[in-house]
Parts: sequence; structure tokens; C-alpha cells
Amino acid sequence: MNSLNKIKTSLFLTTVFFAFINSYSQVHDTGLENITSKSLMQTVQTLCSSEFDGRLPGSEGYNKAAQFAADKFYELGLWHAGDEQYFHYLNVEYNKIESPAIFKTIVDGDMANGVIGKDFVLRGFTGSNSFTLPVVFCGYGISRPDIGYDDYAGVNVKNKVVMVFKQNPKWKNDDKDWGTNYPREKSLVAKKHGAKGILFVSLPNDEKPQPLIGSVMHGEGEQPVDFPQLHISLDAANKLLSKTGFSISDCQAKIDEKKKPLSMNLTTKAQIEVHASYEKNARTMNVVAMINGKDEKLQEEYVVIGAHLDHVGSQAGLLFPGANDNASGSAAVLEIAEAFIKGGIEPKRSVIFVLFASEEQGLNGSKHFVESWKKGYDKIIAMINLDSIGYGDSIQVGNGKSSPDLWNLARRIDKEKFNLVVEDTWNGGGADLTPLYEKDIPGLYFVSKYSYEHLHLPTDTPETLNPELLESIVELAYLTARDVADGNYSKEITIK
Ligand SMILES: [Zn+2]
Repeated sequence: MNSLNKIKTSLFLTTVFFAFINSYSQVHDTGLENITSKSLMQTVQTLCSSEFDGRLPGSEGYNKAAQFAADKFYELGLWHAGDEQYFHYLNVEYNKIESPAIFKTIVDGDMANGVIGKDFVLRGFTGSNSFTLPVVFCGYGISRPDIGYDDYAGVNVKNKVVMVFKQNPKWKNDDKDWGTNYPREKSLVAKKHGAKGILFVSLPNDEKPQPLIGSVMHGEGEQPVDFPQLHISLDAANKLLSKTGFSISDCQAKIDEKKKPLSMNLTTKAQIEVHASYEKNARTMNVVAMINGKDEKLQEEYVVIGAHLDHVGSQAGLLFPGANDNASGSAAVLEIAEAFIKGGIEPKRSVIFVLFASEEQGLNGSKHFVESWKKGYDKIIAMINLDSIGYGDSIQVGNGKSSPDLWNLARRIDKEKFNLVVEDTWNGGGADLTPLYEKDIPGLYFVSKYSYEHLHLPTDTPETLNPELLESIVELAYLTARDVADGNYSKEITIK
């Protein structure tokens, strides 16, 4: 090899080397440059505003949020892929909780006013009523004589309010399963025994007892529309127990130790007033847009970039803004769509952008999407799910154990550009990825590590987010999706 060739070869290798290391850090990558913390945070702010009212499916606020997303897709010139324009409709249960919401404890005639958000919250599927009634403590609120355990044996709860643990025991009775512990199911058990309302208490002896969260997970059964369901603080529970000499923590300890009920009629009372209006079939919608792939063959294959738009709404004026969960992921989907368009990206495969409804109520929007995707779910090559990506300081990419090729692709991009992804991952999908995982669709679940400090609390506000981290996760998800859409990934077998 002469010296000129040597120079040529070394120039060539240098070029290849720099082309390789620069593949994700080109000076001008208009798509990437379009992703900024500023515009992401602007979208998060908008989605968290009181106008959108916590984005509960079925509500006016959710519809406005869906329209906001559809308008954005329209402005970008994306194809609509819903039943009607960008909207992909489904029906869900909906419960609107209005003011006033009253909870007072009465001990020896002394009344203490409960403050919503501090002393109590309402369950998403609370019923309505107004009364002042004695309270009965009923342990775990389980009535299973069939397996030899009944918290309702030996107490009379008729025309009273029961106070029960929200969760089920961590131990088993004769090695038998307790079944589910959803609030509506425990409420129906209490109602069957004659109670008029229910007060849920988090397990006090957990390392970190569950705070008073907004939640619309409710379980099976007919909605008891006249039956208030509250989640009260440990302090409020202790007030109601104050004449017994036991604290709520003592009660749990005694039941867990003996594995026997410790139910008791209390001399204290609760005053409750709740106004809710329930709809069994309220119409809501996913918002779906698409870029058609430019490769004649590969355009029949789809890459889905999705996030849930919904959150848990508001109750009697208490707003759950859901900034991290999941205004952050929703903003990401809109921002990535914009990056594809503004970056002039013409992917080989088709790309679907979807904002799901009703994740919080049990993945209803993503289930409906995968079941009714007209082109067939087997044509979906991969899904990128973005859920709670703005709080904390590092990135976790989930489902890597089920889709290792995809995971390695994202990891490689991360190593070259961000170095923010933590080592641990999981298998089995997770949240809106689960219905797709169950159809053997490979996928990644982007989430910020330790994301859940403010989970379902009124404090999940835009101010708590880390805008730089949010921007990096969105860029990483964008680059990963772009690579998959460009054909640099073949559908792998999902490892179950
Ligand atoms: Zn959530």
C-alpha cells in the first residue's frame, strides 16, 4: 500500500468512524432540534390547566384535551386514523363528583371538619348521599365465610358507616386467595350487609402507607349510586377509634398477628355529604394520527408511538393535574410527531401517533386500540410507550427483557448521546404497553426512574418536573422510533 492509499484509507476510516459516532449527534438534525424542554413544558402546562379539569374520560375537560391534541395533529398535516377524523371512540364508566364534599368526624359530640385532599378524598366511583351515622370498624372489609374469614361476623353495620382497610391482608387464610380488593367490590360487600357508606384507610403499618390518592380503579359490579366511598387519612381513622383505646396501627397489628377479625361498633360518628352523577356508558376517545411510510413494502408495517392522555379528573374542586402522569408522555407524543414533520423525516414504515383514553380506569383506550386497529395488530412492528417521563433524574426503559433487540437499540442510542438510561428493566409490557405485549407486539416503555413521588396527588404539578430530563427522554424515544420506522429493526419474538 503506498502512502497516498494509506492516507486515503485512514481518511476513509476516520470518516466512517466520525459518521458512526455522529450518527445521532449531527450538527443539523432539524427534527431533534425541534424537541425542546420549553415547548414540551408549554404543552404540559396547557394539559394541566383547570380548563382540562384533570382529563377524566367522559368529562368536558377530557374532550377539550382530546380536541387540543387533534388540532395539533391537524396543524402538522398528519393523516387522521380514527373513526371520525382523529377520534377513535369507546365507551367508559364516568362519575362526575361535584361540590360540596363533606366529611366530619364526631367524637363525644365534638365535630371536626375534614379538609378534602388532607383528611379525605373521594373514590373516583363514589356514590352520592348525605347523612350522619355511627361508624363500625370492619378490619379488611372481607366477608368470606366460604374460606373461614368474615370481618362482618358479630357486628351490626345496618344503617351505619363502615371503616375498612383499603388493601387486603398480606397473609393468607388457610392458604386461600382473598380475591380482588377493588373499592367498589368492598363497597358492595358492605352494602349487602346493610351499611350506608364506606371509609377506606390505607394500611398504617406499611413502610410507606398509601397517601390519599385520586383513583378511578373500581372493580366489578353494579355501581352503588347511593353509597359514598371515601378514602380517609390515618389521623381521621384514629379520631374515629379514639374511644376504643386502639390506634388504627394497633388494629392492623392485632388482626395480622392473630389472623382473626377485630371488628367493633364504635361510639363515634361520621357526617358525610357527596354529590356524584354516574354514567354507565359515557363516550370518550383515543386520538390517532399517522404518517404514511414511503417504502412501498414497509409502509404496510406500523410503528406506534403512544401515551395515555387521561388522568383522574377533579373532585369537588380538588384538581388532580397529572403533570407527570401523564401530561408529560402526551406532550412527548405531540412533540415527536412535530419532530417527524418539521425534520422532514419520511420514514419507510408508517408511524402511528396515539393518545389513549382511560388508562387510569384499566387500560381501556389501549385495549380498544389494539383490538380494533383496522390494518391488523400483526402489522404493528413495535410500540413506544411514554408514561410518566418528567420527574426525577434518570431514564428507565421498561420491557427490555421481553424485547431485547429493541431495548439494545435504545440503549445504543442512549450511550452515544445521553447516557441517562439505568441498567434495570423488566418484562411483560406494563400500562398501555400491556395490551400490545399480550398480542406479541414488541415494545419499550419509557419512564423516568423513581417517577412516582407525586403519583395521583394534587401535587403532581408542572413545577415538580425536570424539563431537561423530559427533553432527553423525548429525544431518545424519537431517535429510537425513527430508527425502527426506517427499517433498522426487524420484529422480534416477544419473550414471555
Ligand atoms: Zn396514573
